[in-house]
Amino acid sequence: MSKTLSKNAEEISLYENVKKQFDTAAKIMSLDKDISKILEKTTNEIVVNFPVKMDDGRTEMFTGYRVQHNNAAGPYKGGLRFHHDVDIDEMRSLATWMTWKSAIVGIPFGGAKGGVEIDPSKYSKREIEKISRRFIFALGANIGPEYDIPAPDVNTNAQIMGWMVDTYVSTTSPNNRQHCFHVITGKPIDLGGSLGRDKATGQGVVFLIEQWAKDTNFDLSKASYMVQGFGNVGSWAAKLLKKHGSNLVAVEDMTGAIFNANGFDADELSEYVQKTGGVKGFENSEPISHEDFLRTRADIFIPAALEKQINEETAHLLNVKLVAEGANGPTDLAGDKILEERGIHLIPDILCNAGGVIVSYFEWLQNKRSEAWELEQVDEKLSKKILHGYKKVQKMAEKHKCNWRIAAYIVALSRIETIYKDRGIFP
Ligand code: GLU
Repeated sequence: MSKTLSKNAEEISLYENVKKQFDTAAKIMSLDKDISKILEKTTNEIVVNFPVKMDDGRTEMFTGYRVQHNNAAGPYKGGLRFHHDVDIDEMRSLATWMTWKSAIVGIPFGGAKGGVEIDPSKYSKREIEKISRRFIFALGANIGPEYDIPAPDVNTNAQIMGWMVDTYVSTTSPNNRQHCFHVITGKPIDLGGSLGRDKATGQGVVFLIEQWAKDTNFDLSKASYMVQGFGNVGSWAAKLLKKHGSNLVAVEDMTGAIFNANGFDADELSEYVQKTGGVKGFENSEPISHEDFLRTRADIFIPAALEKQINEETAHLLNVKLVAEGANGPTDLAGDKILEERGIHLIPDILCNAGGVIVSYFEWLQNKRSEAWELEQVDEKLSKKILHGYKKVQKMAEKHKCNWRIAAYIVALSRIETIYKDRGIFP
């Protein structure tokens, strides 16, 4: 995604952004001052440097992170990403958002996030496998099936989770190996993965868009939409919206932005991206600039790429009714303000993309109970949980007359505040 329009947004760090969102919500809801002190900080920050032997015989050093924000509600939970922008500030932000996400949808997890600072496109499959395995080995007992449970995120997938879980179980004692497959979620189905986990985040986004359309009397069969990022979340959301007859008019990813007023077939585009690595050059598409992409006239915008894309310089360019945040942190504080002033509806990330961690929770439960649920069962339970979160956020926004981002924070913070009040602080 182009960073050319995000210069100002770069000045305030992502974590500063998270803190400001937190402070605003904490003030409106009068969050207990002591609990606020706890939640402002991450609990553990693990940095590991580890060596991997490359295909050509050289040894390269890699830096990996796991930040554990909070585990008052349950084990630390959150994805692992492979990206050259991975750093401690980003990990802190993403870990914190995971705590809020699980709290909003009422699942018994805390928040964590991790990753390795690499550009995965520069490595062979064999090297990616070795990096994944050495990273998990380096994390060692800092993760665990009842302690901290990783999952896929940007540039990681079920195959990588398979290598990771194999590494984890292979390095525990033999009599324990069968008990700990739930240390990682988002695994391949044959390794204990859940049906529906692959599409879960995109499916959650679409369940919420459907509810929003119901609430606003909006006809999705006449809707046009645009998607930024066509990886797991963006492509699934696009494919699932297609069944309503909505029109996918613009898509952007690292390779460029494309437009077609008559709409793209999301399934065909997804196959094309699998083959070529990006949306650029897709048949019947008009290449457009990043700025023109943002200016596209559409009803729904699904940002499903990286952080801080909707900011002071870009938010006023949007010509949409709804922003449904498939990505984590796509809108910064200035962007939020502009969206609100312009009356653009927002389904905030910590609610909108919670489908992934919800189905991770189902996978974790299935593994613990040695069960395998049907896809219909997974979808139905996902819909219930995420829509329950939606209703809570909607009510909170009405109660405090605040925007949905802040309302989502208040829902999350209220739940964790209650947990701390019930538990007290040790000793
Ligand atoms: N990486 C996903 C997220 O940001 C999923 C996390 C999980 O399933 O633990 O929500």
